[in-house]
Amino acid sequence: MIVVMKADAGEQQVRHVVEIVQEMGLKDHVIVGTDLTVVAVIGDERKIDQGTLEQAPGVDRVVPILHPYKMAARESKKEPTQVRISDACVLGGNAVAVIAGPCSVESEKQIMDSARQVKAAGGHALRGGAFKPRTNPYAFQGLGEEGLKLLAAARDETGLAIVTEALTPSEVDLVSEYADCIQIGTRNSQNYKLLEAVGKQPKPVLYKRGMWMTLDEYLQASEYILAQGNANVILCERGIRTFEDHTRNTLSLSVVPELHQRSHLPIVVDPSHGTGYARLVADMSRAAVAAGADGLAIEMHPDPEHAMTDGAQSITPQGLADLIVTLKRVAQAVDRVIDSNG
Ligand code: PEP
Ligand code: MN
Repeated sequence: MIVVMKADAGEQQVRHVVEIVQEMGLKDHVIVGTDLTVVAVIGDERKIDQGTLEQAPGVDRVVPILHPYKMAARESKKEPTQVRISDACVLGGNAVAVIAGPCSVESEKQIMDSARQVKAAGGHALRGGAFKPRTNPYAFQGLGEEGLKLLAAARDETGLAIVTEALTPSEVDLVSEYADCIQIGTRNSQNYKLLEAVGKQPKPVLYKRGMWMTLDEYLQASEYILAQGNANVILCERGIRTFEDHTRNTLSLSVVPELHQRSHLPIVVDPSHGTGYARLVADMSRAAVAAGADGLAIEMHPDPEHAMTDGAQSITPQGLADLIVTLKRVAQAVDRVIDSNG
């Protein structure tokens, strides 16, 4: 970081800043200019509290140089990270993967139908929540372990990998037993103990951005998973809270190219929660692929009108099949492909 001194800062104040820097175990390099003096701080600045230097007498401002995140940063790894959920579903390579399925696992018939329909449409993995984070505590909370068993049965029949959410650290081992990829939902995006818990288990993690989180906060929080030894983190943009009310959330697609610049981790877009309306999902899916998304997480229900959760934003099986046909053309236009799932 660079500590910029005020124009009238005296030598004594510069010396004091140098002392603080040295006490922090870092090296200093004082540069005296014609108008200003700056103190360059050499070493890993992320370990120190910027505020200590900011409030030292004679300091005008402190300018960090390093990103506050380390393992997620592009500087730490030049090549994109590829995360393999299954042979058919790899995120971060040239192929764009489609993860689709209902918001919640509701019954054996519903999830088996969904899995067959996702497979027939050309999807690469099946999503479905067994543990549901609901805004209303009296609303359907998911089938729990029974739902996980139904997902595993759907995988057995179709070969589709399973993406499903864990809500609490104590649930992680159970979900990890059944899932091929554990989802962390937006409401848990800063539940650091949960992030550490999924960082300690071996399955890939689909980590959704908090609806209130800046990209800096998001990438810092992703380090809670990475630092525990799990390198298989997939970022997911699912829309953020804004004043806008024509959609449930605002799907901020510019984060896709921005995250690719800042991080080597793959990024998936969820146009279902991102918009809240099935009628907007196909267009925003195509836009996401055009923007460089490595995958999509789409809610599809065999019978959206009767879905127990998120029916309004769930597309139909035919809608998914039609969408994938056009997505292939968009992918080709941006030098990507959508592989067959066979
Ligand atoms: C979901 O995927 O069904 C879900 C609850 O997502 P989010 O955490 O993004 O709201
Ligand atoms: Mn949902």
